[in-house]
Amino acid sequence: MNSKPPLHSDSRLLHADDALHEGSSLTPPIPWSATFLADDASTFAQMASTPMHPRYYTRYGNPLHQRVARIVADLEGAATGLVTASGMGAISTTLFGLLRAGDHVVAQRNHYMGTTRLLSDLLERFSVSCELVDQTDNQAFARALERPTAVVMLESPTNPDCSLTDVRTAARLAHCAGALVVVDNTFATPLNQQPISLGADLVVHSATKYLGGHHDLTAGVVVGSEALIERLWSTQIVMGATLSPMDAWLLLRGLRTLSVRMERINASALTVASALAVHPAIESVSYPGLPGHPQHSLAREQMSGFGGVMGLRLRSDYAGTAAFVSKLTLAQHAVSLGGVDTLVVHAAAMWAGSLDDEQMRQTGIEPNLVRLSIGLEHPDDLIADLLNALDAGFGSSHSG
Ligand SMILES: *Cc1c(COP(=O)(O)O)cnc(C)c1O
Repeated sequence: MNSKPPLHSDSRLLHADDALHEGSSLTPPIPWSATFLADDASTFAQMASTPMHPRYYTRYGNPLHQRVARIVADLEGAATGLVTASGMGAISTTLFGLLRAGDHVVAQRNHYMGTTRLLSDLLERFSVSCELVDQTDNQAFARALERPTAVVMLESPTNPDCSLTDVRTAARLAHCAGALVVVDNTFATPLNQQPISLGADLVVHSATKYLGGHHDLTAGVVVGSEALIERLWSTQIVMGATLSPMDAWLLLRGLRTLSVRMERINASALTVASALAVHPAIESVSYPGLPGHPQHSLAREQMSGFGGVMGLRLRSDYAGTAAFVSKLTLAQHAVSLGGVDTLVVHAAAMWAGSLDDEQMRQTGIEPNLVRLSIGLEHPDDLIADLLNALDAGFGSSHSG
């Protein structure tokens, strides 16, 4: 027998979906159609009753959804996956698919804002209760899990401080309590962290970020076992967060280059974070790849790279921080993260519409906090842009 060595993830990004290839064009044609023809009556009957059929009706599935799901599932070490119209589409499909009235969820105090709202606002209206714990405290998970729990929702690293969750420990505690574990792996990507290998049952992504990688689409993915994904699919077809075939094609194209983008982004972000950490106008840099990050050893344990997002705290106030952001010329002033362009946001301005002052304090969103998502510009150019804005002073800054 001649057994080939398993392919590296770089190659799997290009070939994990080979078995789904049809026709002779190297790149897949866009199945630009809401519906698909059946050859005869018995084929139609079979299409109509097959879960996740890729050629029945696009809300139920599509050949390009299937290819994207195959690649992400492969990289995450999952059996299969489901593609949605946005990251929130994947998260809402997952939670509504798993939960019923009376269920209890344990989640983190810090999550993507949409997830927090879904858990503590929308699901509560359907009599699903939720306890939010400090993600950095394993004991807090243990205490919360003394109560019967259906789902443990995790996310690591998180906004805005790049705080980490000990995924292996939280998943072990959750499984002892009989709960399913869902991990939002958006910030890490499947190249830097594989939550299923740490014990997760389901992994969700906002593919709008690194997986797509070019700021030109919104999409989501959830991967896990055949049984769980089929259950989520039956929710997804009534939730209706369907990714358009064109966006699925763009996402597939984005995925092909994920490993080269992440290699560069991991390296550039560490270079930029290290340069900024020693600047006198910077109070602190939160980046899991820096030895000074309070959870750096956990980061090294469960991640193989640290991604492109960091939190900067300036020695300044709200106005000075806003002025700093405005002075940047390479880093683009826009929400979102994980793409080819470096993006910067003033955290307090971004979250002012959704959090009151007390909630901002609790989530660590101080007036001097800036979130930076490193893209593919040369790191020296980014550092020059950032230092130029820092050295220009902050107007109303007060140091010390
Ligand atoms: C952006 C994001 C989401 C939501 O994804 P959309 O594609 O915007 O719906 C969820 N989780 C994390 C961690 C994100 O960064």
